[in-house]
Amino acid sequence: MAHPKTERTLVIVKPDGIQRALIGEIMKRYERTGLKLVALKMLVPTEEMIEEHYLLDPNWKKNVGEKAIASYVKKGETPPSNDPIELADLIVARLKKYMTSGPVIAMVWEGAHSVELVRKVTGGTEPRSAGVGTIRGDFVLDSYQMADSADRAIRNLIHASGTVPEAEMEIPHWFAKEEIISYRVPHEATLYDVDLNNILG
Ligand code: GDP
Ligand code: MG
Repeated sequence: MAHPKTERTLVIVKPDGIQRALIGEIMKRYERTGLKLVALKMLVPTEEMIEEHYLLDPNWKKNVGEKAIASYVKKGETPPSNDPIELADLIVARLKKYMTSGPVIAMVWEGAHSVELVRKVTGGTEPRSAGVGTIRGDFVLDSYQMADSADRAIRNLIHASGTVPEAEMEIPHWFAKEEIISYRVPHEATLYDVDLNNILG
């Protein structure tokens, strides 16, 4: 089995993150956990790339549609559609418009529990309810309510893979193998070595 330190996750700084001049702040938050940046690029995604990205997992539409309906019902609101797939199609159409509106930065972060850690630091999907101290909670204020009333995607600064299998599908969608760099950094010795050798002189 591969060492846990080889786990990788995809992060995309969405167009609003670039517009808000938050690139450095966002990268700092992941970097300081001890995770290692192994791939990075700036691009303007095409609609096809975004559609394919969200449809990599055949269950995503159903899951996101059901999740969205449940959250409307919980708030006593009427969803734009009661069919999860139809609602997901609406969400994807909005996401295509949002994600192709300007440059984004795609990154791969590597390290133990990288998928889970990046999600924790990123915070919940809706900035309005995302935890204090998380990127989405600290740097933006959008809500489903505002997004829905303007028929647009929620502006939440970041995409981060939700699970390890999702990361494994998403990374090759955004990066060719040779764009991902395998290298060492000295602090890995402190993070991962079994013994803390060679500290004392
Ligand atoms: P993420 O992994 O935290 O970004 O969340 P998901 O993978 O569940 O959803 C992906 C994207 O779909 C989000 O960034 C939102 O733009 C959109 N989305 C997800 N859930 C909802 C919802 O309940 N309502 C609306 N309007 N959009 C949603
Ligand atoms: Mg997701």
